[in-house]
Amino acid sequence: MVVRVLITDPVDKLLIEKLSQYNVQIDYRPDIERKELLDIIKDYDILVVRSRTKVDKEVIERGTNLKLIARAGIGLDNIDTEEADKRRIKVVYAPGASTDSAAELTIALLLAAARNLYESIALAKSGVFKKTQGIELAGKTIGIIGFGRIGSKVAQVAKAIGMHVLAYDVLDVRERAKQMGAEVVDMEDLLGRSDVISLHVTVGKNPPKILDARAFDLMKEGVIIINTSRAAVVDGPALLENLNRGKVGVYATDVFWNEPPKEQWEWEILKHPKVIVTPHIGAQTKEAQLRVAQMTADNLISAMKELGLI
Ligand code: NAD
Repeated sequence: MVVRVLITDPVDKLLIEKLSQYNVQIDYRPDIERKELLDIIKDYDILVVRSRTKVDKEVIERGTNLKLIARAGIGLDNIDTEEADKRRIKVVYAPGASTDSAAELTIALLLAAARNLYESIALAKSGVFKKTQGIELAGKTIGIIGFGRIGSKVAQVAKAIGMHVLAYDVLDVRERAKQMGAEVVDMEDLLGRSDVISLHVTVGKNPPKILDARAFDLMKEGVIIINTSRAAVVDGPALLENLNRGKVGVYATDVFWNEPPKEQWEWEILKHPKVIVTPHIGAQTKEAQLRVAQMTADNLISAMKELGLI
C-alpha cells in the first residue's frame, strides 16, 4: 500500500526530495483552500504544513486516515496537538532549526530600536540628513523572558555588547544562566530593572498575557520591548496605551496578533511611530530554511519507520 502525503504549504524542495526516496505518493498543494483541504484530507496518511495551514480540530476530525502531521517549522501553535494526541496522530517538527536566525533578528531589532534606525534610514533615504539621537546599549540591562534556545543565544550576544542580562523562565534555568553570565530573577524584578525587555517564550493553545496592564506599570519609563516570540503574550490594547503615554519607548516586533492586522488597535500599533515591525521573518534565512527542511524530513522519515509506514 502506498503511503499518501499531502503538503499544503510551500516547503523547501529538499524536504520533497528526501521523502520521494521512499514508496510514497506526494501531492504538493501549497495553495490549497481550506474547504478543499477539509474535503480531501480523509484520503491521506500524512499531512505536511508550515504556518499557513491551520490544523485545527475540524481538519484532524476529517482526517480519518491521518497517522502523522509534520510542521516544517519550529513552533506548533497552528496545530491542535491535544486533538492529534487524542486520535494517536504523531506530530513532528523541527525545534531549534532556526535558533541562530531568530536570535540574530532579535539583535537587529534591538540595535534598530536603540539607534532609531527605522526613522534615520527613512529620513536619509528621503534626502533629509537629520541626526536623531539614540541610546548606547553597553552598560544597560536587558531582561530576557523565556531563557530557552533563542533567549540564551540573545543573552550571549547582549553580554558581548556589554549589557547586564536578567533572565526569567518558568523552568529552573540557573545552570544555563550561570554559563551565560546572566542573573536569574523573578518577573517583578525583571520588569522593574530592565531598560530592554526581550520576549522568547514558547506558547501553547491558550497563551498567557505575560505583558499585561500591570506588567507595563512595573516597567521603567521609556523601556524598549522586543518580541520575536508570539504576539499573543502581549496585551495589545494595554501596549498601545503605554506607547501613547510614552511609558514604552519602542516596541520592536517580528510577530503580530493577526498577520496582517485585523483589529483597529492592531492597526494603530502597526502605524505607531514608536513601533518597528518586520513580517515574521525570524526564520527566513537560507541557512535556517534548509535546516528546517532537513530536520523535518529526518524526523518525518524516522516517525514513518517507527509507525511501519515505510
Ligand atoms: P525554547 O523552548 O527553547 O525556549 C522557550 C522558553 O520559554 C523555555 O525555557 C520555556 O520554559 C519558557 N517559557 C514558556 N512559557 C513561559 C512563561 N510563561 N514565562 C517564562 N518563560 C516561559 O524555544 P525557542 O526555540 O527559544 O523559541 C522561543 C520562541 O521564539 C517561540 O515562541 C518560537 O515560536 C519563537 N520563534 C519565532 C521565530 C520567528 O520567526 N519570529 C523563529 C523561531 C522561533
